[in-house]
Amino acid sequence: MNPTPADRPAFRPEPPDLLAGRGIALGVSGSIAAYKALALTSGLVQAGARVDVILTQAATELLRPLAFQALTHRPVVGDLWAPGSELAMDHLAIAQRAELLLVAPATADRLSRLALGLAGDALDTTALASTAPLVLAPAMEPNMWAHPAIQAHVASLTARGAHFVGPWEGRLASGKLGLGRMAEPETILDHLRWLLARQGDLAGRSILITAGPTREPLDPLRFLSNRSTGSMGFALARVARDRGARVTLIHGPVAQDAPVGVATVPVERALDMQAAVLDLAPACDALIMSAAVADYRPAAPSERKIKKQPGDLRLELSRNPDILGSLAEALAEGSGPPPYRVGFAAETEDLETNGRAKLQRKGLDLVVANRVPASFGAGEHEVLLLTPDASEALQGASKLAVAAAILDRVTQALGASPGTGTDVSVPRSERA
Ligand code: C5P
Repeated sequence: MNPTPADRPAFRPEPPDLLAGRGIALGVSGSIAAYKALALTSGLVQAGARVDVILTQAATELLRPLAFQALTHRPVVGDLWAPGSELAMDHLAIAQRAELLLVAPATADRLSRLALGLAGDALDTTALASTAPLVLAPAMEPNMWAHPAIQAHVASLTARGAHFVGPWEGRLASGKLGLGRMAEPETILDHLRWLLARQGDLAGRSILITAGPTREPLDPLRFLSNRSTGSMGFALARVARDRGARVTLIHGPVAQDAPVGVATVPVERALDMQAAVLDLAPACDALIMSAAVADYRPAAPSERKIKKQPGDLRLELSRNPDILGSLAEALAEGSGPPPYRVGFAAETEDLETNGRAKLQRKGLDLVVANRVPASFGAGEHEVLLLTPDASEALQGASKLAVAAAILDRVTQALGASPGTGTDVSVPRSERA
């Protein structure tokens, strides 16, 4: 059967931020790290979340409710008992509508109160009245965090399903170094996305993604590599994570951090990437190979630094294995169902013909053919998604949009078959 040709290129918008339109209750307790709660609030609002802020009495000694109100454009619950306070606003209504309850910073006192189920102020009572998952970003002196009383409270909150972000190691306001810094707002936001993602259409699926360049050593100091930034693979990891998949990202040396919740396997050489793929691919539902794997490696890397000598230096290169090709052989020998396999093709011309040839040669289910150099770096993309029986053209799409289109295909192909991953959804009734 001849494949259906691509229609006119479709414009694909970026998938929305998972925080957009979500109800987040933010409790701020009285640590000096509370100043970061302003950046957190601003980040939540910019992502489109509906944010209700509750300040503890101690937090209002450090920051005024007005600062949070200016960012959220909503009433802020401050001191419960202050004359003329905003308590006309029913803070129990916040507990009802919150989809997540985040306490950042969470002091030693607040963790203890939450663990014991005390009900002395608005934040305590909101936490008791809410059935939403509880997320805690502790901030305190290292000795306080290490204290057996606090660790017992952390264990009890964790056992009840609370999700901890940090604390981090580093410099504290006291000038000491140690474990007790509040996690950075961006990281906390990404933890919230990860928790919200668990109901997505890829929940229970396990997706393996490769990204970035490989580095082929010449000697202990030098290597051959390419300009891949890994952005496509990291965008795929983010969108797959946002849709609820269990994601593992095998990546070469890149200057980006993986999204929260994504397991990473850093590698250097093509041979290391091949070993990781052969090890992990048989147990996943889909493999997406977006890595720019070096085709050749120095035949005999030197254990010592290669000294310069008069005259030219000739390098002998050996062919690297084709990872997708070697996987096809390994899967043919195995017993389980093969994962859905996606490969990339960077082409300067004849996207369709060259992409289809790769689809067949590498035994793939989907080839993503990109026009290069147009789609290098952060620019806009012209992409063809080629399956054995259809072509879909996308134009002007960002990497996140391309990632979403690829994952639509993966989701469709996996259909209703049982996933290899475990169900990681957090029911609302799981109390912390
Ligand atoms: O053969 P070519 O490099 O054009 O194919 C690109 C696709 O094959 C990408 O998906 C890439 O990750 C994968 N590849 C591979 N092993 C290699 C080279 C590329 O699996 N040695």
